[in-house]
Amino acid sequence: MSKKLLLKNAHIEGIRYFETYRKHGGYEAAEKALKMSTDEVLEEVKVSGLRGRGGAGFPTGMKWSFLAKPEGVPRHLVVNADESEPGTFKDRYLMEFLPHLLIEGMLISSYCLGSNVSYIYIRGEYSWIPDILEEAIEEAKAAGFLGKNILGTGYDLEIYVQRGAGAYICGEETALLESLEGRRGNPRLKPPFPAVKGLWERPTVVNNVESIAAVVPIIEIGGAEYAKIGVGRSTGTKLISACGNINKPGVYEIDMTITVEEFIYSDEYCGGIPNGKKLKACIPGGSSVPIVPANLLLKTINGEPRYMNYESLADGGFATGTMMGSGGFIVLDEDQCVVNHTMTLARFYNHESCGQCTPCREGTGWMYKILKKIEKGEGKMEDIDLLWDIQRKIEGNTICPLGDAAAWPVAAAIRHFRDEFEWHVNNPELCLTQNYGIANY
Ligand code: NAD
Repeated sequence: MSKKLLLKNAHIEGIRYFETYRKHGGYEAAEKALKMSTDEVLEEVKVSGLRGRGGAGFPTGMKWSFLAKPEGVPRHLVVNADESEPGTFKDRYLMEFLPHLLIEGMLISSYCLGSNVSYIYIRGEYSWIPDILEEAIEEAKAAGFLGKNILGTGYDLEIYVQRGAGAYICGEETALLESLEGRRGNPRLKPPFPAVKGLWERPTVVNNVESIAAVVPIIEIGGAEYAKIGVGRSTGTKLISACGNINKPGVYEIDMTITVEEFIYSDEYCGGIPNGKKLKACIPGGSSVPIVPANLLLKTINGEPRYMNYESLADGGFATGTMMGSGGFIVLDEDQCVVNHTMTLARFYNHESCGQCTPCREGTGWMYKILKKIEKGEGKMEDIDLLWDIQRKIEGNTICPLGDAAAWPVAAAIRHFRDEFEWHVNNPELCLTQNYGIANY
């Protein structure tokens, strides 16, 4: 049974509201943190080993310690709630059902970072959630946990919710900051990182919703206890949003010691694949991370079981591994067509490219066109090589990681499922009439 830290009270009716949240220990971690020095809070977060839960897995404590502190310049915490990665919906769950966990995490984090005005930037498509968050903010304010002189400590904090307008690129932290400042969400070059020059050129920490929520249990149980959960550099718990061909789609909290096999087949999590179908492949970290075929998903290349954590999923690099990413776990059964799936993702990235960098603007459209051709049975063998070549020329050649995110799924699909691409080229007549299933060859 996995340990629950974030979702331990999620089942309690009314936990969305301050009164119930408080009755079950809510804001006690904030009370504890506000009695500590900001350095002590930072130390707990560092010791916890918490890694950014948005996808990059960058150590949160280290990011916080990079925050510049020039005299007289305000600093900000910005929560990235622009969760738009296909397959990823764990932040939505946290904000919808446990908004006070996020607000409490923001209070502790803002206090530690010295931010008096913090923001939640939320994706436009989550249209019903800002009201939930704003209600929670009002409740916390009425109870003295936000506003002026919080709990008599002299610390002031205001939190504002900013709605995005539906662009995936605004989840990239610098595009998010541009958008928050009222401009088109074009990513900025890094460095300088937001920790040095962020919102309105002020030092800013941008953290994912789940990362900030995790600060609550870290303060509650202490960084050292938090670090004992999990394994190696994959400490604490991780929320996984599971979808695709599984019996029980949903959001699960895991402690990163379970195997991928257990996660897919155990009744505690995904509950197996419907209709007794076989597992074909999985994308374990949201659509941007490489797809992995079943044989490499259940075992590493050395025959070790593959675990649901940062290191094990990445084992072997992109040749045999993948990434934990944002924890958007997409399962494909034996009937799914990888070419069709890859084309769908290519269409998404082409649509979402901001157009700033030529390799991404032109390359994503080109990849989509070729994939469409191959998928319809109108492709040639050389198109597969051309596709490989284009993705190589996008990766690493753009300002932000959207280019990489568009290239990696294509690269992994060709690397692991080239036979499926070739089947499409060799069987044009079947492409139009069948589900291009693996059973056909
Ligand atoms: P990144 O590695 O560039 O940065 C991670 C974080 O660490 C950033 O906040 C960055 O500012 C900070 N950082 C890194 N080096 C630093 C330094 N030297 N000084 C100060 N701060 C530093 O990654 P990224 O571009 O922020 O994120 C990419 C990831 O986002 C991908 O791996 C993907 O999984 C994920 N993603 C998630 C979603 C979602 O909906 N959750 C959507 C798209 C992509």
